[in-house]
Amino acid sequence: IARNPGEKEFHQAVHEVVESLAPYILENPVLQKMKVLERIAEPERIVMFRVPWLNDKGEIEINKGYRVEMNSAIGPYKGGIRFHSSVNLSILKFLAFEQTFKNSLTTLPMGGGKGGSDFNPKGKSDNEVMRFCQSFMTELQRHIGANTDVPAGDIGVGGREIGFMFGQYKRLRNEFTGTLTGKGLGWGGSPLRPEATGYGTCYFAQEMLATRGESFKGKTVAISGSGNVAQYACEKATQLGAKVVTLSDSSGYIYDPKGIDADKLAYVMELKNIFRGRIKEYAEKYPEATYYEGQRPWSVKCDIAMPCATQNELNGDEAQTLIANGCFCVAEGANMPSTPEAIKAFLDNKLLYSPGKASNAGGVATSGLEMTQNSMRLSWSPQEVDQKLHSIMKDIHAACVKYGTGPDGYVNYVNGANIAGFMKVANAMLAQGCV
Ligand code: NDP
Repeated sequence: IARNPGEKEFHQAVHEVVESLAPYILENPVLQKMKVLERIAEPERIVMFRVPWLNDKGEIEINKGYRVEMNSAIGPYKGGIRFHSSVNLSILKFLAFEQTFKNSLTTLPMGGGKGGSDFNPKGKSDNEVMRFCQSFMTELQRHIGANTDVPAGDIGVGGREIGFMFGQYKRLRNEFTGTLTGKGLGWGGSPLRPEATGYGTCYFAQEMLATRGESFKGKTVAISGSGNVAQYACEKATQLGAKVVTLSDSSGYIYDPKGIDADKLAYVMELKNIFRGRIKEYAEKYPEATYYEGQRPWSVKCDIAMPCATQNELNGDEAQTLIANGCFCVAEGANMPSTPEAIKAFLDNKLLYSPGKASNAGGVATSGLEMTQNSMRLSWSPQEVDQKLHSIMKDIHAACVKYGTGPDGYVNYVNGANIAGFMKVANAMLAQGCV
């Protein structure tokens, strides 16, 4: 804490991992002597830079740009770029730290990184977003590369932004490589990358549910967010037989007791991805739904909750409400959406609870598959990618069960994910010496 003053999200993420790993590290003098945990919590490199750009009025605007290159022990740095007004170093360090364990869990050779800017894309024209992305990439390009650091999307960075950044990278470096993932299908992207995080979270939840002889069929699901992860979690949960009754954005949530079916979801995708509208418009279009301004969806009665918006969006009181309403499974699509108090409530009450670093790893896993396809200069079919994604999610689940099952048989997926993710990185760091 003294080394990283004021970085509360980063402290929160490290604290959770240290709690899981402490017993394991105490039994391993080599890990202690080689200070593996201390090194893993220190980024290998952080780049911070100025991003000046011209708005549509011809005025200069200035944002901060960052790339946190956390750990390259098992592969090139890999992790998304976030554009949101809340972005700061603490948030990006927590995300890069989590990413290191998540990428290790995927079984693919990817290190951990994360980047972004406090640029807020809301209300900006396409031209403004393009000029910002070009300025951001003009600096970032000298620090990344297909074998060095491979960024992707995250909050506020979807296909449009990846396109603008890839175009600028290609122009400056005069090379067409897989330096960014999340590219369009016609220019190096992988089938199923947009779907992968939401689908993967549902595949992971399916595995958790199966340990109790349950499935999505006939279940009521509450989802937060209405962006990339939430949309495809909604799609897959519905395909698997569940009824999704909520979606949200930073202004409020909608409750649709009849369920958000494929047609309604198509409307949400158009609203959010093309018109960049607000979720409250859903309740104007579908009168059976109600919009709750300034609230989060956790007071709704559901069997399964899937937080898919942002960090710390589900607190201890909300966790207690979910449990009192009969929710027995929480699968995180977002990164660190549950506060420590919420996680404690889920674990104390023996819920099926998966931390984002395990259940949302399908996105980066499919980015890893995109990197492989780019290196081989070929592309796989959607079925092939889906099958690989599904099997990676099953493997991550199995690793969590292996390392997270307690003496009473309860699977603590937090411990499982942290220990399994840590071991591979720690072993690589030990082999590579004091670096
Ligand atoms: P999007 O930008 O597509 O969507 C984000 C959604 O969350 C929007 O509905 C947004 O609402 C809402 N949101 C953002 N900030 C807040 C906030 N402070 N309070 C309440 N709601 C908020 O992002 P993604 O769907 O890509 O990402 C969602 C989460 O999933 C993040 O935690 C991300 O790190 C994580 N993740 C994403 C992956 C991916 O492949 N995209 C991979 C793994 C994890 P609004 O429109 O009002 O901003």
